[in-house]
Amino acid sequence: MNTLKVHSIESFGTHDGPGIRMVIFLQGCNLKCLYCHNPDTIKLQGGSEYEIDDLVKRAINMKPYFGKLGGVTISGGEPLLQSKALIPLFKALKAEDIHTNIDTNGSVFNASAQELIDHHADLLMIDVKNTDEAGYHQLTGGIGIDKVLKLVEHREATQKPFWLRYVLIPGHTDSDEQLNTLIERYSKFEYCDKIEIQPYHHLGIHKWEALGEEYQLKDVKENTPEQIERVKNLLTPYFKEVKIN
Ligand code: SF4
Repeated sequence: MNTLKVHSIESFGTHDGPGIRMVIFLQGCNLKCLYCHNPDTIKLQGGSEYEIDDLVKRAINMKPYFGKLGGVTISGGEPLLQSKALIPLFKALKAEDIHTNIDTNGSVFNASAQELIDHHADLLMIDVKNTDEAGYHQLTGGIGIDKVLKLVEHREATQKPFWLRYVLIPGHTDSDEQLNTLIERYSKFEYCDKIEIQPYHHLGIHKWEALGEEYQLKDVKENTPEQIERVKNLLTPYFKEVKIN
């Protein structure tokens, strides 16, 4: 398989991994998060087929902008659904000495995903969406929150770096109990270089409306600066770096 199903490409991304990055958003996700900013990436149909070679050429053209830190991030949608095609892409990028990163929801694991994670991804950003099964299901529609922790443990065992991401949703993911569980479960990993707290915002609402779907979190208020500060202070003693993204 030499093509990837792509939703869109951002040339100068600065929010999805280190440095300046070419961010490839893939089409299709196995979850349906209530707050998804890119709900049009969820359905498995659609998107455009891109040849791996074309994507590699684009990345090579971007190389002068990547600097020491930047590179290519695969986001989505859920990238690991297309792991098989990502392997040749990442091999080609590594041959050009381009840094590779995957932004995953942590719930997809199969032989291709394992090969990608173990051998080809310089960085993995894993989205810890919640800390209890019922809340995870309510927010994402998915089941099996333990898959996320298992993926984190797997990556740790490879002795390669990863970041965690956590969307802070007032009334849904910001209770003391949830944040303490987050610390208890996720702060012990040596190869976790950073946890990114992503404040909740309403930016995706119009996209849900454009799809003719109800945005179910419209009554949830965005975080106050005090709420964000509280979480930063709470997590800082336990993680190498806490970044508000
Ligand atoms: S995992 Fe990401 S792309 Fe998939 S529905 Fe959730 S937020 Fe959207």
